[in-house]
Amino acid sequence: MSEPDDVILGIDLGTTNSLIAWADDRGPRIVRGEGTDGVLPSVIGFEPGDGRIVVGAEARAHAVERPETTVFSVKRLMGRGLADVAEEVPWLPYRLVQRRSDDHHRDIAAVEVHGRVYTPPELSAMILRELKQQAEEQLGRPVRRAVITTPAYFDDAQRQATRDAGRIAGLDVVRIVNEPTAAALAYGLDLAERACIAVYDLGGGTFDVSILQLRDRVFEVLSTRGNTHLGGDDFDRELIKLLQDEIRQQHGQHIHFPPSTQQAFRRFAEAAKIRLSTDAQATVEIDLGGGRLYQRTITREEFEDRIEPWVQETVVCCCRALADAELEPKDLDQVILVGGSTRVPLVRRRVEQLFGRAPYTALNPEEVVALGAAVQASILAGTRRDLLLLDVTPLSLGIETMGGAVSKLILRNTTIPCESDEMFTTFVDGQTNVKIHVVQGERELAADCRSLGQFELRGVPAMPAGMAKIKVTFLIDANGILDVSAIEQRSGTEASIQIIPAHGLTPEEVDRMELASYEHAREDMLAHRLVDLRNQVEFDTTKTEQMLAKVGSHIDAGQRDSIVRAMQQLRTLAAQTHDPERLHQELDAFGKLTVRLAELAVAQTLKEQPE
Ligand code: ADP
Ligand code: MG
Repeated sequence: MSEPDDVILGIDLGTTNSLIAWADDRGPRIVRGEGTDGVLPSVIGFEPGDGRIVVGAEARAHAVERPETTVFSVKRLMGRGLADVAEEVPWLPYRLVQRRSDDHHRDIAAVEVHGRVYTPPELSAMILRELKQQAEEQLGRPVRRAVITTPAYFDDAQRQATRDAGRIAGLDVVRIVNEPTAAALAYGLDLAERACIAVYDLGGGTFDVSILQLRDRVFEVLSTRGNTHLGGDDFDRELIKLLQDEIRQQHGQHIHFPPSTQQAFRRFAEAAKIRLSTDAQATVEIDLGGGRLYQRTITREEFEDRIEPWVQETVVCCCRALADAELEPKDLDQVILVGGSTRVPLVRRRVEQLFGRAPYTALNPEEVVALGAAVQASILAGTRRDLLLLDVTPLSLGIETMGGAVSKLILRNTTIPCESDEMFTTFVDGQTNVKIHVVQGERELAADCRSLGQFELRGVPAMPAGMAKIKVTFLIDANGILDVSAIEQRSGTEASIQIIPAHGLTPEEVDRMELASYEHAREDMLAHRLVDLRNQVEFDTTKTEQMLAKVGSHIDAGQRDSIVRAMQQLRTLAAQTHDPERLHQELDAFGKLTVRLAELAVAQTLKEQPE
């Protein structure tokens, strides 16, 4: 028997990418190997010459050039016979062979490289071994047990093959969990009373949607639909087609693209696609040799036109899955997005339209399955999860405002679900981007709080400082998931972010953060007041400068000089003093000194206005 406190890993063994995570009482987190983002491409390369085996990004980089010795999409072969995978063959350039299973009962599909035959579990084990090693390096101790996820539609043979892969990699697979169930666990949805959840998973080469029902802490898959050949790779191919067709048009139909260039095209296309998830356009530059440079800017609209049919097909699958489960969109309590390709804005829009609600996106869609596997692992290991169970917000939530102060929108101990909003404005003339930094904690300065995330409201029309009307709304739903949105009301410009505030905190930390707020209460109050006064000094002196430029010539030189001097002194004081009272007095005095100037400026403005 293993020791009860032994860590159990959570593993997402994906068709395109694999990840590993673990959880403690702070919640789940991804294990990131040294210098990586934790995402391991599920690709195995057999090097030419020595036959050395490489796993991950390095293998993927040579996939197109070395089609026969680079093995990818092993997941498609798990637990299948050669006849079952006949339709996969055109997609897999490496050599597939038939083999007797270890128990001699069945024929299974296997892969032959350099004259050696590898079974799919053996190949998957190479990926698992790499992940296990990364986890052991990061945790600093050996680990043996793991929860591994599989698609909901996997049959017994496919699940068994996944278990075998774990065993070959030296892992004790304590449970196989459905990927959609893992996604729901990652969001803590098992803690709800009962719920109907749709999980929409669009990865690199596969799509599936599952409708789950939760009752008494147990998830049941009501229905699942999908297409095992639909995913981000199709989006890449659309872009590759666009680029190659255009290059042929410009430089001659005869142009041939050898494998090495194909690899480059794939890289360019994927990079452009990823950029288009955040930017309105992406530029691709390809050196065609012979001094010919091909450059092309692709807009998001253009990209969306091309991929719309693929996205539409996923929508049709969702409708079928709902029909199979005898449900309508309104019967669903939550929709969860899974898979890297759900970062594509068009995909999000279509999912939202179809289900009539904003899907959960608080967790990184590429990581959510591994995180959920880790949650399942921690439940099996008996780790506490009390923070997610709370029905009140344990700590206050707010945003950073000008000068580093915090404006709290939801106070500690507020019962959830809850909602709160507040108006903010811009501080600089012509400011078009506004950063919204979401923080958690009881202290008055953002630097003393816990940063939960940030986003930018972009494209606010230029207007004078203080004119923009930005409404920031905090909404926490019954599952403790926070949605922060900002809308500039004059223009309708909008942006938002979703966060799980309870992730990454232990109950002890919550107590400590609360205590710190009492200990620092006075000091914090002074600091906050100082920030407010500094902002006011900045505002008033900038305004005075503008007035001097406009009507300064209408007052006598002596008065002008004394205003300029007072302005400099006030700014120096603001930068140096820690005494809010003194700054307040000086600010008042400055206000009195500039009364006449302000009157003149107002009179001038009125004069300039059209009748
Ligand atoms: P799988 O579950 O099939 O292993 P993933 O969930 O890791 O796959 O998704 C991989 C796919 O997500 C790839 O096609 C990749 O290009 C795509 N992808 C990753 N990040 C983004 C992004 N920011 N925008 C659009 N697509 C992305
Ligand atoms: Mg996946």
